[in-house]
Formats: sequence, C-alpha cells, structure tokens
Amino acid sequence: MLDFLGDLERTHMCGALRVSDSGKKAVLMGWVNRRRDLGNLIFIDIRDRSGITQIVFDAESNPGLHEKARELRHEYVIAVLGTVKQRDSKTINKNLATGEVELVAQELRILNQSKQPPFLPSDTVLPNEEMRLKYRYIDLRREAMQRNIILRHNIAIAIRDNLSAQGFLEIETPFMTRSTPEGARDYLVPSRVQPGSFYALPQSPQLFKQILMIAGFDKYFQIVRCFRDEDLRADRQPEFTQIDLEMSYPQPERVWEVVEEFLKAAFKIAGHQIKTPFVRMTYDEAIRRYGSDKPDMRLPAMTDVRDTFTAENLEALGLSPRVPILALRIPKVGDLSRKERDEIKPMLNAKGKVKVFEDFKRLEKTFPQAASKIRQQCAAASDDLIVIVAGDGKLPEHKSEGGVKPEVKQHDEAVYTAAGFLRLALGQKYAERHRAFARTGDPATDFRFLWVTDFPMFEYDEEGQRWAAAHHPFTAPHEQDMDKLESDPGAVRALAYDAVLNGTELGSGSIRIHRQDIQRKIFHALGMTDEEARERFGFFLEALEYGTPPHGGIALGLDRIVMILAGADSLREVIPFPKTARAVDLMVDAPTPVSEAQLKELGIRIRND
Ligand code: ASP
Repeated sequence: MLDFLGDLERTHMCGALRVSDSGKKAVLMGWVNRRRDLGNLIFIDIRDRSGITQIVFDAESNPGLHEKARELRHEYVIAVLGTVKQRDSKTINKNLATGEVELVAQELRILNQSKQPPFLPSDTVLPNEEMRLKYRYIDLRREAMQRNIILRHNIAIAIRDNLSAQGFLEIETPFMTRSTPEGARDYLVPSRVQPGSFYALPQSPQLFKQILMIAGFDKYFQIVRCFRDEDLRADRQPEFTQIDLEMSYPQPERVWEVVEEFLKAAFKIAGHQIKTPFVRMTYDEAIRRYGSDKPDMRLPAMTDVRDTFTAENLEALGLSPRVPILALRIPKVGDLSRKERDEIKPMLNAKGKVKVFEDFKRLEKTFPQAASKIRQQCAAASDDLIVIVAGDGKLPEHKSEGGVKPEVKQHDEAVYTAAGFLRLALGQKYAERHRAFARTGDPATDFRFLWVTDFPMFEYDEEGQRWAAAHHPFTAPHEQDMDKLESDPGAVRALAYDAVLNGTELGSGSIRIHRQDIQRKIFHALGMTDEEARERFGFFLEALEYGTPPHGGIALGLDRIVMILAGADSLREVIPFPKTARAVDLMVDAPTPVSEAQLKELGIRIRND
C-alpha cells in the first residue's frame, strides 16, 4: 500500500542533521539508499542530493512501524518523521556528515515503490557506460554525479555573476538560424511552412554576437549551447556549452583580462585560487618550444640543440643544421630497459619525416662533447630521460617560406610537432615516475594556464588544395601582414588567441574584421568569389556597412572547464544528458526515424541510394 504525503512537510535535507539537532523532531524525505535488517532493528539509509542519514526502526518500541519498514526496498521513496538522536561513541560513522546522529522513526510513509534498478546509486562498482546512459536518472542519483552537476551549476552562476559585474549583458541568440562559419557540418531543421528550406542549428553564435556589437550592446555574453555535426572523437559532444562573449573596442589584452577574471571566479568556487595574468606565448614560440599550439607546461619545454654538434657530428648522424634538432627531457624517468627504449620510436607517428635518437647513453659515448652540452642546455638531472628528435635532413616542399615568423618555417613544423607529440606521449607513459600531472594542491603548479597568441591566419587544406581560415573567416589579420594576403598567405598572422590549460584548449577567440573592404579581401584570399560570399554571409556583409565598431571576443568550453574542476576524465561525467561517441542519446533513444506523415508534411522523402 502506498501512502500519500498528507500534510507532512519536509523539515531537513537528508544530509543536514547534526549533533546540535539531537532531541528535535525531523521529517526527512528521500530514497532508500541501503537497508540492513538485523531482526529487531532495521537500519535504513535515506538519501537525497544533500547526503544520507541513518534511520532506525525498533521492533520493541514500535512493532507496527517496524513491520512496515520491512517492506522497504532499494530506491523506494519515503517520508519519515522521527526524533534526532545522538549516536553512542562506538557507532559514530566518521565518513558521513550526519554520522554522529540517527533518526529514530516514529512514522513512515511509503510515497512510491521502485522496481529493482539495474544498478544502485550506492554501488561501489559502476556498470558499463551504456547502462549508465540508458538509465541516466539512476546514474545521476549517484553521489559523484550529483556533485558534478551541482559543481557545474555553481561554476555557471559564478561566471554569470562575474561577467555581469564586469558590465556584460547576457543576450540570447537564435537556435533556428542559418549556417555559421565554424567549419563543421551543420545540424539542419527542415521548415514545414517553406518545404525544401532548412534552418541550421548554430555551430556558435559568432555572427549574432558580432551583430550585437553593431547593434550597440558593447559587451555581450551567453552561456550557450552550440551544435556541430563532426566525426566524433572520444572527447567531443555534438551539442556542447560555450561561455561566449564579445566586446566593442578591445585590444586583445582586454579580452584576456575579462576571461582571466571569470576563470578566477569559476576556479574559486571550486576551491582553487588561481593567479593572473596568465603566461602569454606566441604561436611561433609554442611550436618551437612545445611542438604544439596548446602547450602542456607541466613538462619541460624542448630545447633546440643543433649548435651543440660539430659539422662532422652532424654529417656522421646524417643530420642537417638547417632543420631543428630537438632535445626532449622527461624528468625522473631513470634508466630505461632495452625494451622500454625500443618502444619509443614506434610511439611516434611521423611517417619517416624525423629521426629519433632514444639511446642518449650511446650518443654520450660517441659524441661526448655534444652530449654534455645538451645536458647543460636542457638543465637535465642524471635521472632525466633525454630523447633527441631531428628532421631527416631533407627539406620537403613547402607552401610558404615565411612561416608565422621567420623562425618557424612550414617545413620545420612537422619536426616540431612530431617532437611535441613524442614529448607528451612519453610524459603520459612515465607519469607515475615524474608525477608532474599529479595534483599538488598548489594552483600555480596544478593549473598551468597560458594565452597562445598570433596564430597564423590561414592553414593550407591539402585535400581542397586551398588556403582555409585557421580560426574563422571573421578574424582580423595583423595590420603589418596585410600586404602578404595575396603574395604569401602562409605568413599572415591573425589577431587570434587561445586560452590553454595543461595542454588542453579551453577556448579561442579573436579581434574581428570590422571593415567590409577587408572582409571582402579575406573572403577572396579564402578563394570565395563575391557572389559566394554574398550568398553565404550577405546579411552580415551588409551589416558591416552600417557603422561597425571595432570588436573582438572569445568562447570557452564550459563542459571542459567543469570536467577539469570536477577531476573527471570524460565530458560525459559533467553533462547531465550526454550523447555517446555515435551521437546517440541512449535514454530517450534519439535519433529515430519519423513517421511517413511527418516527412510528407515537411516535403521530405528518404533516399535509399
Ligand atoms: N565562435 C568561435 C568558436 O566557437 C569563438 C570566437 O571566435 O569567439 O570557436
């Protein structure tokens, strides 16, 4: 028999009772987390989002109630009225916030029963992820998931409050819109009233936020869902949440300050006092020192050691001083076995473009002078692992001799990035030895933020045989590089920047083009004719002609920030209802086919070829 709530009112959350409440009456409502039946005594742990309290049903003092408590099963929803009692010292549970008290039941109402769930929120061993996603409502009842979702809320509120205090207005932009320029595939929504026409879900509010600047709102932000139909990688979601912002008249530094401020607030709410301003590094330096545009600075940078070798050394090694020779240092790895050394080369997926010298001891024997200089230059301790990665001596074809700055020629980039990849792979492999990725409690060591700046404006799309926007086509080029737009696109730098944390890109942004003539030039450089540009972005090009203030902004991934702060290892741990790697929602079972009638109404026929 199920009970009704009647006039019973909840007086406390299940995790709220303390010794100071002893002797008081309390009404708790929640789920049966666990039950232990000891014959005359039944112990029930009642659970809600605040925690757990132990309830006691005693056959001697209340046989009727005890009998009723015997009906309770996992995940039944109950209301219990009782008296808070201090536990005697032997039965105190130190692992529970309410562990010094228990509730002695006087009344029990069973508000709802539950089928035996496929797994229990109290289970210590998790079921497989498919099961968790299918029964997400059970999974979300688990303490870890409740903690993550509550943390997500706290972070979002902290960011909203902070941005609002910095003078930003939260303004909504449409979800049913037209194709936006982030470079992924669009999710389309068919129009019923205009058969054959489609809305696109926004890959980001990029053009709307720029139009809000044209419209005079000056500082905009939005914590907003974005939709991108991409081939899913492990750490991607087809819909995800961005902290999106745009402001008028900023230098890049001003945008960075705004972001640093709201990140400070977000990290603070999660218990970490981070320091600002963040390190700033040009793309060129990031590539040369870390072989990546999102450097993980928890490991030592790479060192170019080509000047440690004599001409004869280089000849003997088959290397050229015209390409980089990079020393990677991974601290405290100690001596490697022959087998471990042999595993290094295959870790690198560089298609023969680089040479790897993984046996530094041998190098020390053959080239003692060079080796000792290398040790010095990269400040290596005796138990550090040193691996040398070098270009194979040949200069491959290249699209631009300019590079971002004269230092990084395009043909060198392959060597830098291969070395950067190996640096990270070795860092991961030997993480237990160097412990650089383990949290220390010191935010300055645990969270290595930086701004990567001055990205290249274009990257060469080998498949399409053309230059493509490295960020998006509304990003402003450096003024000094304007004259290279046509002659040497690869050498044009953009006023684009990324916020990076521990080797992860948190977000990217840029100062935008605010002049129509320059926007046209960029479209041209991207191989778009006036006509094509007008067709795709005509409304925007027109808007640019009506007094557009200089403006710029950025977007950061909220899911990723919460994931890092929750210490979770997947975005799915911090998104309430995520999709699988195949873009499926297992709980509601979406996507699904729709009825013939619905399709007909939309003027759509499914092709089977
Ligand atoms: N719209 C860009 C993105 O989603 C961010 C920006 O440039 O503000 O990546």
